[in-house]
Amino acid sequence: MKSSESLLAEDSTLSSADAGLSLDEHLFDLIAEHGHEQISFASDRRSGYRGVIAVHNTILGPALGGTRFWDYQTDAEAFIDVLRLSRGMTYKAAVAGLNLGGGKSVILGDYRTKEREGIMKAHGRHVESLQGRYITAEDVGTSTSDMDFVRQETTHVVGLAGRSGDPSPVTAFGTYRGMQACAKFRYGDESLEGKTVAVQGCGHVGYYLLKHLHEAGSKLVVSDIDEAKVKRCVDEFGATAVAPDEIYGVTAEIFAPCALGAIINDDTLKVLKVDIVAGAANNQLAEERHGDALDERDVLYAPDYVINGGGLINVNAEVEGWDLDKSHQKASEIYDTVFNVLEIARDEGMPTYRAADSLAERRIANAAKAKGKHLYM
Ligand code: NAD
Repeated sequence: MKSSESLLAEDSTLSSADAGLSLDEHLFDLIAEHGHEQISFASDRRSGYRGVIAVHNTILGPALGGTRFWDYQTDAEAFIDVLRLSRGMTYKAAVAGLNLGGGKSVILGDYRTKEREGIMKAHGRHVESLQGRYITAEDVGTSTSDMDFVRQETTHVVGLAGRSGDPSPVTAFGTYRGMQACAKFRYGDESLEGKTVAVQGCGHVGYYLLKHLHEAGSKLVVSDIDEAKVKRCVDEFGATAVAPDEIYGVTAEIFAPCALGAIINDDTLKVLKVDIVAGAANNQLAEERHGDALDERDVLYAPDYVINGGGLINVNAEVEGWDLDKSHQKASEIYDTVFNVLEIARDEGMPTYRAADSLAERRIANAAKAKGKHLYM
């Protein structure tokens, strides 16, 4: 059910053990620890709907984040997932410089069910009850047609079919700009001409990213489990193909993960031979310590949620009424944001993934001060 355009999919679904949290703690302690403003629970006996909406932060604007439909093994898992995912959205929107806060919702149950109308309409009523503090969209387990049902009950939904459209070109452009910022930081020149870039994944984002890199004169190495997609990139961009497992060990200036999460891990760190990791995939670090390990090895890491913010920028166009040019302009600013993150990391002696969080927190704290709003975070 997840489409590749599930631009708000921040994270793979987590078990409570993965999250390192337990509901043995009090619910309110968990909420306070994550800094949420509000959690809303709703159920609808007739349709079987059971949903949770987490509004993490609305200092910068309404809390935006998709609706995940998932067969959680326990209610606790769902609760922890929605807490984490909504907080991630706050950080992503803040570093992207958008007037959006962070939120997320989860629907508990069989996401493959064909009886969707009642469930999605109940969810729409739940979203509506928050009166615009939360805006939803599709995510893992939901589709644009589900959002059409949601739309029957609330206007606070984006990413509907025929609206902002495929976010991948904007995401790819933002990723390309972030990669240029990394090159400028590392080599003193943003040009990617002659640089070897190893791209994992020739899907929606990977393809458009390769197009930009080809036009810039980069040397391209690609992998994908889908041979037809690899062939297209070899034919169109003169890329060199390697087997899926070989992409991590390619000697290159830049590794661009555009397929899977958790690809910076104990195994891949042993073989990586690059100066820079900069790609669009979500959740590239298997664990935070792998971000520390990149830092220790002097590999420059462009934090995933900063460099891939183009997807959120694209859907924000619906909230703000932007045209495609404006979205591209905003995605182009990812260059400055990535550069800023790298500078903070260098100047304050921290790994880049921490510097990204710090940048987001500063923007939110400044806005809270300026608006005289209480900051729960
Ligand atoms: P996609 O499904 O179109 O492309 C992913 C590609 O990766 C597919 O071609 C798939 O065959 C390939 N793949 C899967 N396993 C692989 C493996 N082991 N080795 C090599 N290739 C493999 O998805 P997409 O929309 O291009 O998104 C790519 C990544 O970027 C995802 O992590 C996604 O969450 C993230 N992202 C996408 C957007 C967006 O606008 N589409 C926005 C933000 C983040």
